[in-house]
Amino acid sequence: MKRAVYLLLALVLALTLTTAEMAPALAVTQADIDALKGDASDLTSQKKALKKKLDELADDKSQAMARKQLLDQQISNTSAQIQNVEAQIASYADLIAQTEAELLDAQQREQAQYELFCARVRAMEERGAVSYWSVLFKAESFTDLLGRLDIINEIMDSDQAVIDKLQALQVEIENKKTTLETSKTESEAAKADLVSKKSELDSQRKEANALIQSLAANENETEAAIDGLEEEEAAIQAEIQRLSRKLAQEQAAQGQSSNAALGGYIWPVSSHYITSTFGGRASPGGIGSTNHKGIDIGRVGYTSEIHAAKAGTVIVSQYSSSYGNYVVVSHGSGNTTLYAHMSSRKVTAGQYVNQGDVLGITGSTGNSTGPHLHFEISENGSRINPLNYLTGYTLAG
Ligand SMILES: [Zn+2]
Repeated sequence: MKRAVYLLLALVLALTLTTAEMAPALAVTQADIDALKGDASDLTSQKKALKKKLDELADDKSQAMARKQLLDQQISNTSAQIQNVEAQIASYADLIAQTEAELLDAQQREQAQYELFCARVRAMEERGAVSYWSVLFKAESFTDLLGRLDIINEIMDSDQAVIDKLQALQVEIENKKTTLETSKTESEAAKADLVSKKSELDSQRKEANALIQSLAANENETEAAIDGLEEEEAAIQAEIQRLSRKLAQEQAAQGQSSNAALGGYIWPVSSHYITSTFGGRASPGGIGSTNHKGIDIGRVGYTSEIHAAKAGTVIVSQYSSSYGNYVVVSHGSGNTTLYAHMSSRKVTAGQYVNQGDVLGITGSTGNSTGPHLHFEISENGSRINPLNYLTGYTLAG
């Protein structure tokens, strides 16, 4: 008699401990967010290395342009960090929405299961078979007891399954609530991080622009830097002409037309606000070319798309001290357009671009005191005034 009761208790215990774990497939998983966090940690290492190099150059005016290059890299690093954090926040939002939907679903299933459980209890009460024990204690012989035990097992298996499901659902609901809490906390932390990174980016941009402005204020001390920039610009122009002619020759050798027709340019940015025209000008604040070979287009901020003014092949996409991040597109032998001071470049050398394709994003990299697009057109090897072609502009007052 006692053995049978122990058997029964063991059975009840075993069934109670068996809970089915639910593992629904998520569109966004914590693993995706962890991968983003891995990228963020790489960016943090890069940031530390840049900071160290910057500190080494801190008070050396002759190294001003090298310092500006590092500041430009720092700005692009912070921008990448911001994009990373924004991606994390978006993933958390997806994860939270999914978990909330799953939680609601689990709660509805729990409610249904609870109703089923209540119906079972009511049925038992109606049958008057509330106590398993009374069934067992009425056994008149060992054979009778075994027979009664089988009956009870069947009843219990069915009832226990209802209870098991209910318990599994309660565990699932608790897990979902924990996941939801964690995701919400981490999302809030990422949002706070975003705010601080944006303010960091803002001060880094100010520092970079102020550095070039301070060079202008101390012209004597920085004459070497200016001379260096003008030499660099001349070397870049010679290289552009060489590459443009080489490309045209290669295209001709392959029987392709080099499309050397002149003109036909569109505005490279949506702003048509000219802050500096082509030709001789007083060097703004002392620095910058005194013989301006392009136009400066302002009111572009750090986020405007820069479009190819005309179809062609990208022959240069790189960074230089003077132009910062810049791109040159060749439109035939000696005919090129140049786009300078970009925050980021979106094309690589050798790539064919259609008119209007995005080449990069505006910025203030290189020899620049604030965000603008420096735009040049070369025809037959000489830089010409882009405003000969581009109309509908406003001159800064
Ligand atoms: Zn310019």
